[in-house]
Amino acid sequence: MRDQLYINGEWVSPDLGGYLDVIDPATEQAFHRVAAGTEEDVDHAVRAARRAFDNGWSQTSGAERAQWLEALADELETGKQALSELEVRDNGKPLPEAQWDIGDAIACFRYYAGLARDLDQQQDQPLVLLDERFRCRIRHEPIGVAGQIIPWNYPLLMAAWKVAPALAAGATVVLKPSELTPLTALELAAAADRIGLPAGVLNVITGLGADAGSPLTEHPGVDKLAFTGSVPTGAKIMSAAARDIKNISLELGGKSAFIVFDDADIEAAVEWILFGIFWNQGQVCSATSRLLVQETIAPRLIERLVEETRKISIGPGMQPGVLLGPLVSQGQYDKVLGFIDQGLASGARLLTGGQRPAHLREGYFVKPAIFDEPGHSSILWREEVFGPVLCIKRFKTEEQAVQMANASRFGLAAAVMSADLQRTARVANQLRAGIVWVNCSQPTFVEAPWGGMKHSGIGRELGQWGLHNYLEVKQVTEYVSDQPWGWYLK
Ligand code: NAD
Repeated sequence: MRDQLYINGEWVSPDLGGYLDVIDPATEQAFHRVAAGTEEDVDHAVRAARRAFDNGWSQTSGAERAQWLEALADELETGKQALSELEVRDNGKPLPEAQWDIGDAIACFRYYAGLARDLDQQQDQPLVLLDERFRCRIRHEPIGVAGQIIPWNYPLLMAAWKVAPALAAGATVVLKPSELTPLTALELAAAADRIGLPAGVLNVITGLGADAGSPLTEHPGVDKLAFTGSVPTGAKIMSAAARDIKNISLELGGKSAFIVFDDADIEAAVEWILFGIFWNQGQVCSATSRLLVQETIAPRLIERLVEETRKISIGPGMQPGVLLGPLVSQGQYDKVLGFIDQGLASGARLLTGGQRPAHLREGYFVKPAIFDEPGHSSILWREEVFGPVLCIKRFKTEEQAVQMANASRFGLAAAVMSADLQRTARVANQLRAGIVWVNCSQPTFVEAPWGGMKHSGIGRELGQWGLHNYLEVKQVTEYVSDQPWGWYLK
């Protein structure tokens, strides 16, 4: 395991010499430390990224970059099991989910290798102009230096979603992972180092948001800021970006609704609802945390949800058979229990869970909780808990379900379940969310756009949209007529 910063192709100690403990959330014990990067380190990294951009990387072909991305994917593949175990230790998630994440991260690098190759074909496409005296071609050029700031819920996967499209586009990167889960981002830097990725193309600065993240957002040498995290931090980044008119993309929080109509298959609904809120301990931006159930099936559906939730096994992520690990940190544990207390105080009925499991004396464990009928204005119904807490409300009509689902400041995702596919299509089209799942919840595909409306963010990641976050569009227009332009030469 590494504890230094990766700048300009070298492992370096932090400028101020500070380090941060890395805590295992299943034991609450520090098991490692990482460098606490600060403004000076960020400045070195941004300058290195600029030099790498100007001195060759931006001029590479898509096919060359594809080879680097594939080499990175191969390196990660070789270390897949070790990376998965590191992710469990750092984040707490069950091992099968960590393996799933690392597999998805590798697939993301391979996918963007393909898009980098396609980019060569799409370069200099002619654009037909109505005025035949001109000939126009369209270029897609790399945006420059990208500052990327990511959260802790899918540490390596969030890094892949940002680094892979940026490198595919020909941008260079300064990546700032979350201080809570920095280890697999450092392993990504180590993989880049082993394959000999040119110095400065990928730099990784660990450290706190205020000390390492904030200077990155304010650095005048950064052309693009890509952020995934909370709404308040997103707002700060947006205002920091305004000073230099930096290009931004923001993937923020959510409070996504799951609408279940009375003709849905109850057992399928139970599985998707529980997966939609409880996987990754509910620490998922797109978690379908607000369940809207048609009142005629509410008693039966809720009874089954409570029954199955009580069976969910909870324990350290490395323990076989565990479905729920600990929350990521003491701070997150306190925050989630605080939400539960406020929910109880507001009169919402707790049907199950919401406390530390009796058999686990250490670790940030919380039993998956279900609340029935919190008030429309209660914090539990309105705000993102980012933990294993499901809230249920009933509806009578389709119109009411859509209205309740859309009555949120967030608009990241939504799910709808019904046997009537005309109805699911109608509802999907009316939901104000960037992602709508029909008869399922949460599956995420590298080819499909990811991102939200309203307070859930700006822009889209993944797919071709992810690549275009790191490309500038340029028109090159040529006067081809043999006639004078005719402003004064007649
Ligand atoms: P956070 O906003 O606290 O931190 C995210 C990152 O920003 C961390 O690396 C942190 O160090 C950094 N940071 C903090 N303050 C900063 C500042 N002033 N300037 C620059 N950087 C700063 O969020 P978190 O707790 O790590 O993650 C949870 C949040 O992320 C949730 O709201 C969740 O919904 C959201 N999220 C969204 C998506 C999505 O795709 N929309 C995906 C995952 C997580």
